[in-house]
Amino acid sequence: MIFENIAVLQANGTYLPSCYVGVRGDRIAYIGENPPAEDYGERINGKDRLLMPGMVNAHTHVAMTLLRGYGEDLPLQSWLFDRIFPFEDKLFSEAVYWGSLLGIAEMLKTGTTSFTDMYYFCDDTVRAVLESGIKANIGRGISCFDPTKRLADLPAYAETRELITQYHGAENGRVLVDVAPHAEYTTRPDLLQDAASLAAEHGLRMHIHVSETASEHKECVGRHGKTPTRLLEQVGMLRQPLTIAHGVWLTDDDVHCLTAHDVTLAHCAKSNLKLGSGIAPVVKFREMGLPVAIGTDSAASNNALDMVDEMRMAALLAKGSTRDAGALPAGEMLFMGTRAGALSQGRTDCGDIQIGYRADLVMLDLTDLGLCPSHAPLSNLLYGAGSRAVCMTVIDGRTVYKNGEFLTLDIERVRAETQRAVDKIAAK
Ligand SMILES: [Zn+2]
Repeated sequence: MIFENIAVLQANGTYLPSCYVGVRGDRIAYIGENPPAEDYGERINGKDRLLMPGMVNAHTHVAMTLLRGYGEDLPLQSWLFDRIFPFEDKLFSEAVYWGSLLGIAEMLKTGTTSFTDMYYFCDDTVRAVLESGIKANIGRGISCFDPTKRLADLPAYAETRELITQYHGAENGRVLVDVAPHAEYTTRPDLLQDAASLAAEHGLRMHIHVSETASEHKECVGRHGKTPTRLLEQVGMLRQPLTIAHGVWLTDDDVHCLTAHDVTLAHCAKSNLKLGSGIAPVVKFREMGLPVAIGTDSAASNNALDMVDEMRMAALLAKGSTRDAGALPAGEMLFMGTRAGALSQGRTDCGDIQIGYRADLVMLDLTDLGLCPSHAPLSNLLYGAGSRAVCMTVIDGRTVYKNGEFLTLDIERVRAETQRAVDKIAAK
């Protein structure tokens, strides 16, 4: 396909007012001010349209759309232990499949082309990923409250190995598998160490929750005499490329430790606010050299999977909490929501509009009233129109969403089956 006479925003905020962008197969093959000599097939009129890189949701639990609105106005500990875990005990395979599809549909409609996930019943989420056309890094959450069990004794271990064999790199790398221990407070140091060995054995990335709440951070120091970050260092987890979610309570020493390794922080501003966990000082973290990407966390704590909404929240919080209107300007925000996320997934050829990169593209309708007039399209997207301006989403060169229509899934069926699954769980 070729986008003709279209405005383009690149990941670093560079704005090109009128371009031709040609896609061949799954790649961006042409970017220029003049039409290319070769034929690219389908022609898309770029008048009043803007093309930007697809957004990357760097931390979520997509099937938790099933729990959207199920635990409200609660702090993390009682939200998790009194509401979420008991509901999750009753989950079943089909429920996770439909819940995943519902979350994926929301992401496609709001311009997300890839996400990093941690959950259970991962083959059902993978099935939803493969069918819908989205990209994902999938990790089976590893947690254990039985002191007699080793990592190899846990179902999560067998399932992670099975996921690696079956799906790591599937569909030309559209699905990748991460090793994903849930958190320090839901595992033990020896399990984390074994998880790191498993990741090293297969050359995989890792994904974990770190220092989300003050109490979690403090209790870890009480248990182990060190912060969660220093514990991860001790057990060898920082030797693998790693995404840490939240990091609200990271100390300066933690950040210095993390920047010496291949670690990205997935900043989940809205979830942290909603669960009353605090505000991660990401402006400072970035100044200290820590890469920061953006995640929504789950729909149970957000309650949306909308990356434009999430970027808006992160940018406003950064400006307000530092009392600096220049903190996280729109171009940097876009980079965090796109390219930084792709890099955190190990997808070096994703997250930007550059020749040779994967064609993960989002088209905006510039006639949306929130985008008029067009002094600053990106700021108007973030603070004005929001994701309702998304009119087309393309992943690996394949159109998956266009003008309100989902081209890879039956949205009415997804809605109905998700409700049916939730009713079944409620009846248990
Ligand atoms: Zn999470």
